[in-house]
Amino acid sequence: MTNKKLIQKAASLIRPVKIQNYLIGDVGCALVTDKNHIFVGVCADLCSGMGFCAEKAAIAAMITEGEFKIKTIVAVWKNEKGENQILPPCGSCRELIRQVHQDNLQTAIILKTSEIVKLEVLLPHHNWFG
Ligand SMILES: [Zn+2]
Repeated sequence: MTNKKLIQKAASLIRPVKIQNYLIGDVGCALVTDKNHIFVGVCADLCSGMGFCAEKAAIAAMITEGEFKIKTIVAVWKNEKGENQILPPCGSCRELIRQVHQDNLQTAIILKTSEIVKLEVLLPHHNWFG
């Protein structure tokens, strides 16, 4: 799957539902594993930190199927104009990707349609704890 199609896949998941003051499903994530399987997830922005990022949902689906190595990952949100906007993974998701498998330091993180970086670039000094 091309990066463009992966971005489109993540964007296709976005179906925001407002529950009280919280939004569920306003960010979609798609990832490709080293076995070329695709896993997806959406976020849940809930109170008191009980929600989760779209990346975490996609990674949970991947782990559920017994896979751990992520080749490429992207998260997409739609801005006020309805345009797709790629979001970088938060610090917690960066660390989750890293801890799921050491090889994931080489995971390609799509930051923009034309800008892709390896996770290790987003996690400086990542070797200090093992
Ligand atoms: Zn996150």
